[in-house]
Amino acid sequence: MLDIRTIRRDFPILEQSIYGKPLIYFDNAATTQKPRCVVEKIEQGYYSVNANVHRGVHFLSQAATEAHENARKTVQQFLNAPSSNEIIFTRGTTEAINLVASSFIEGCMMPGDEILISAMEHHSNIVPWQIQAARKGITIKVIPLTETGELDMDVYRALFSERTRLVSVVHISNVLGTVNPVKEVIEIAHQHDVPVLIDGAQAVPHLNVDVQDLDADFYTFSGHKIYGPTGIGVLYGKASWLDKMPPYQGGGEMISTVSFEKTTFNELPYKFEAGTPDYIGSTALAEALKYVSALGLEKIAAYEDELLTYATHQLNAIEGMRIFGHAAHKSSVISFLVGHIHHYDMGMLLDRLGIAVRTGHHCAQPLMHLLGIEGTVRASFSFYNTKEEIDTFIKGIEKVCQMF
Ligand code: PMP
Repeated sequence: MLDIRTIRRDFPILEQSIYGKPLIYFDNAATTQKPRCVVEKIEQGYYSVNANVHRGVHFLSQAATEAHENARKTVQQFLNAPSSNEIIFTRGTTEAINLVASSFIEGCMMPGDEILISAMEHHSNIVPWQIQAARKGITIKVIPLTETGELDMDVYRALFSERTRLVSVVHISNVLGTVNPVKEVIEIAHQHDVPVLIDGAQAVPHLNVDVQDLDADFYTFSGHKIYGPTGIGVLYGKASWLDKMPPYQGGGEMISTVSFEKTTFNELPYKFEAGTPDYIGSTALAEALKYVSALGLEKIAAYEDELLTYATHQLNAIEGMRIFGHAAHKSSVISFLVGHIHHYDMGMLLDRLGIAVRTGHHCAQPLMHLLGIEGTVRASFSFYNTKEEIDTFIKGIEKVCQMF
């Protein structure tokens, strides 16, 4: 069992009051709060080891390089990737997907080829493909969803053609909370020799991810959603694919030799890391991964499931409640609307009670369109949330309902 009281002490921000009410932070799918150890790591990085990495012979540069490369190894272990050369630091999930969209389409696709994505994707797993696809004449096909908000696996199987070159789907939906059967998704694609990218932005904070067990070809996540800093994220890619892909950006670090006649590129992972990397961010991210691992992802998942069940049960008792997403396997994200109350009004009034929820389309406009709505209220839980907070949240919603 997790000791939530003790855990909460690691997150000073949670001690705040908002409008005189204790803060209840239920916007964890947007970003998570940071434990002391992560913030201290950033402070220590700047105060004690700050120097540019990879290029320096002096002590501090070597210390910073070692910390940065150790962070890469921590990420490798966290994802159980075969090699740390397959871990590329990016600014986040969005940049990781843009990298693959740009370099994979450039290096591994021809005009007329096809990509499969799903109807529950975040804009960051739609728009990068659209931009690159338009440049090269690539077709994007969309896997539809079932009534419960799960991938329609029969249609998925039928969408493959001779021209399918890549599948890119989300592990956990940031709107519906659906945990997709990504292992099966990958297995089916591999039967057609098609690689798969998994957008793991919402998955890594909530469940154990083993890229070798999944046999994922690419896996992406963002540091800030897993209790780490903003501005750092990860692309895991199989070396066999990354080697076939041209660099994403040019600059320092990513080269081997440069002349005006010909430039040769560095080996993995540096080929995809142009410019000074965020070595302070990488070490702080590693600290966050260690923090989460020490708590134990199985324990985190079990506790968050408990919060999800508890909240869903109580929300369902509210008159006029509509929850979006009824997957058999769901993560701790609940999107809902009550009666005719606009999601924005609900969010603003809950905020006055100190409760932070997200409102809007959640960067998934095609999904909103499919659901026939403009937006939802979304509550998303972390291991530092409590049932008492959910009780207050439910009372808050009831209060808002009475006002309308
Ligand atoms: N994919 C999913 C499923 C997400 O929830 C998010 C963040 N809301 C992203 C991608 C994009 O992540 P980031 O903004 O950190 O790049």
